Amino acid sequence: METPRSPDSRLLIDGAFVESDGGTMREIVDPATREVIARVPDASPEDVDRAVAAARQTFDEREWPRTPAVERGRILLKLASLVRERSAELAELETRNTGKPIVESEYDISDVAACFEYYGGLATKIHGDVVPVPDGALALALREPVGVAAQIIPWNYPLLMAAWKLAPAICAGCTVVLKPAEETPLTALALARSFEHAGLPPGVVNIVAGDGPHVGARLVAHRDVDKVAFTGSPDVGRQIMHGAAATLKKISLELGGKSPSIFFADADFESAVAGALFGVFLNQGEVCSAGSRILVERPIYRRFLDAMVEKARSIRIGNGLDRETQMGPLITETHRARVRGYQEIGKGEARLALGGGVPAGEPFARGYFVEPTIFYDVDNRARIAQEEIFGPVACVIPFDGEAAALQIANDTHYGLAAAVWSRDIFRVMRVVRSLRAGVVWVNQTQVSAIEAPWGGYKQSGFGRELGRWGLDEYLQVKQVYINVDDQPFKWY
Ligand code: NDP
Repeated sequence: METPRSPDSRLLIDGAFVESDGGTMREIVDPATREVIARVPDASPEDVDRAVAAARQTFDEREWPRTPAVERGRILLKLASLVRERSAELAELETRNTGKPIVESEYDISDVAACFEYYGGLATKIHGDVVPVPDGALALALREPVGVAAQIIPWNYPLLMAAWKLAPAICAGCTVVLKPAEETPLTALALARSFEHAGLPPGVVNIVAGDGPHVGARLVAHRDVDKVAFTGSPDVGRQIMHGAAATLKKISLELGGKSPSIFFADADFESAVAGALFGVFLNQGEVCSAGSRILVERPIYRRFLDAMVEKARSIRIGNGLDRETQMGPLITETHRARVRGYQEIGKGEARLALGGGVPAGEPFARGYFVEPTIFYDVDNRARIAQEEIFGPVACVIPFDGEAAALQIANDTHYGLAAAVWSRDIFRVMRVVRSLRAGVVWVNQTQVSAIEAPWGGYKQSGFGRELGRWGLDEYLQVKQVYINVDDQPFKWY
């Protein structure tokens, strides 16, 4: 079947939608049906170089970095309003490309608009410092854009992760070459259709589709790229550090995790059970901060597990376009095989309370569906408790007392997020302080407020996204030392 072509299934280089130099097309597939929904060109090495050259030239030779902050802010605010106008179209496209439930896509697109709005407002608040220095001199600390940023995006929240990176870069006055994940380039390319209307000058944001080892790695190693922002797996994070080493680029890495959710016996029971399920099954479990280790205090352990299983049985799996769907398919067959592998590993490591396979029946035959799966009595040293599965697989782990909960929670290489559920504020604050994680929720889970910092401790990466911290990643500080002494300069 011939799939429709539109300008946004091409690459965006220097303000123009273009075909690839290499001529290779990639089929983009709906993971719920395996239907080919678009064909997008893979960028060739020459395309990548042209995109970087456009970004470099726009930064070095055009007016963009010197555009008044108020103007950069207006562009972002306009982009936000265009996203809101196109929200139904973008949400549907996101669901068709990722499989995620349409209701979740609608939240994502609303967050995309909010992200552009937030950084639209922040553009006029970028200011430096006046620093007291000896000898009556004056020192200024100016904050300037870093330059050309390569932004490498994962497939689980394609447009939202792009917005988290694009908005602060535009706000700071940087230029960008963005690489979506090879499976999910559609919403980023569709958004690009609104750039001109928003007033974004050509060359500020360039988009090159294609795979990581070729397109991504070339960007990372490119001598004309100043900074790399990446969200994805720790293995690729390590490759990016290697690839960026020769040119000593600035890097920020968000590498997912194996986040603990700790449920003390005094927590509000109904909210806690709902929070545990939402934390691990949101977006089919394809969430970097998923609360995939569910630590439950012994007095409520059995009742909690039973309530989780009971509620999880009614999770509606299906095509994400159906409004009733609560869990869609996984992103690819390869990824499903990986998650299926962990379901099998889990059966040898722990007890299975729910799921453990793929859903039966005709509606699921073509898509990459798996069942929501709950393992219990899990030993925290088990592979299913230590390795990121990135699918709807929960590990329920019992604990006795606060010290044990903390020991288990921190016993991981990761440190992206954690949640604590309790009504005892003193205990909550003790636990919060002892958790080695970059984001800690209290009686809440999976919220990522645009205004607040997001990023990991330990091997979950470094650098922060969102809020003013996300902006700092795209700024560098220049010291200006001004001699205000009118005496002749003397050498000792
Ligand atoms: P990857 O880390 O491979 O992909 C993330 C992004 O990096 C994609 O755009 C990918 O491109 C790109 N990439 C891959 N290799 C390179 C490279 N050598 N240089 C530069 N960029 C590169 O994740 P996967 O898609 O393989 O998923 C595997 C696992 O990673 C998941 O199961 C999950 O555990 C974790 N993950 C974590 C995410 C998070 O939010 N922290 C998001 C996604 C995955 P392309 O895919 O086009 O090849």
